[in-house]
Amino acid sequence: MRGRFAPSPTGDLHLGGARTALCAWLSARKSASSFVLRVEDLDRPRCSARAETSILSDIRFLGLDWDEGPDVGGPHAPYRQSERSARYAEVRDRLLDEGRAFYCFCSRAEVARAAGAPHGPGDDGPRYPGTCRTLSPAEIAERMKTRSPSVRLRVDPERIDWIDEAHGAQHEDVSQTVGDFVIARSDGVFAYQLAVVVDDADMRIEEVVRGDDLSSSTARQILLYRALGRGAPKFAHVPLVLGADGTRLSKRHGDIGLTALRARGRSAPSIIGALAASLGLCEPGDQIHPRDLLSRFSFSSLPRAATVLDPACVQGNCVAPMAPSGVSVKPLDAGAVQVTFTGSAGAIYQLQSSADFHGPWSDLAAVTADDKGVCVYVDADAANHPTRYYRALIPVAP
Ligand SMILES: [Zn+2]
Repeated sequence: MRGRFAPSPTGDLHLGGARTALCAWLSARKSASSFVLRVEDLDRPRCSARAETSILSDIRFLGLDWDEGPDVGGPHAPYRQSERSARYAEVRDRLLDEGRAFYCFCSRAEVARAAGAPHGPGDDGPRYPGTCRTLSPAEIAERMKTRSPSVRLRVDPERIDWIDEAHGAQHEDVSQTVGDFVIARSDGVFAYQLAVVVDDADMRIEEVVRGDDLSSSTARQILLYRALGRGAPKFAHVPLVLGADGTRLSKRHGDIGLTALRARGRSAPSIIGALAASLGLCEPGDQIHPRDLLSRFSFSSLPRAATVLDPACVQGNCVAPMAPSGVSVKPLDAGAVQVTFTGSAGAIYQLQSSADFHGPWSDLAAVTADDKGVCVYVDADAANHPTRYYRALIPVAP
């Protein structure tokens, strides 16, 4: 399964990104396949060459290698999205010519008003109501005089089914969730969905391994593969590493970048050991090289929930699971919930409804505790994604 890791150079590689890279590498190398490193730097203002250099250096430091990438080249170069715009434009124009995509002159505010809803699932705004689907060539020409259009893929009602290697059977009717979606913005920037599908198709990627936060993109991307006349790769969405407040790792959780860990003298085998232990692939405290994990790795045995990182442990240079006690759950206004517990070193942590969980925690489905940890199940945005539950797992230390 030819695989890839595709980081965005917007900052240092953190433990969550490193863990995703490890999973992607293990799956590709386990089948003796090649591994591609691609830099997703479409969001130019937030990306930097310094961050790209640092991320590549950190991945290599961990013992993960690649056969094709921006630094080593390869048959499908270039491997930076910022250098591939001509290719995205070609695909956009082809989809427009074939009638699979159309020009849209709506502003975000107009889409929101027409849809009658301020927010849709995820960060993609409300469902597009189809306003510009049937504009005539004359109407398009007239509107072009005063506004630059975005380009949307035409999405017809249909249930899309697929198997996620880590989560099992999934389905979504994109016409009911996001509707016709943007593939090129009105300012000329290509949408992530288009760029990633064109790249993975062109680079002959057979298996896409990435973080759970991108799971909601899958159905849209399958539609794009179809529109391009290409078969979709396999998808595996691996659990995220979250801060103790239940949100994605960022600077506010302390200096948890690989660069900082290296500067503090952490060795690659100890970091790989900690990441692998958090995935159940070795014992906490083991020091290990990625190649020694090859025979142990499978998506079906990975934890499905996010790992919550104990900041006290990060400061102490470990990625140890937390031993919670005194767990309590309190319903908040607007359907949110707050879970409070005491972590290691007596610190009190709170998990609370968060935009990082793709919508309101509309319903607390369950809280369970066993020898593996405390699981908080929340039914996120149940109206739009009835099959999706988000779960924060606070592992109990062995
Ligand atoms: Zn429109």
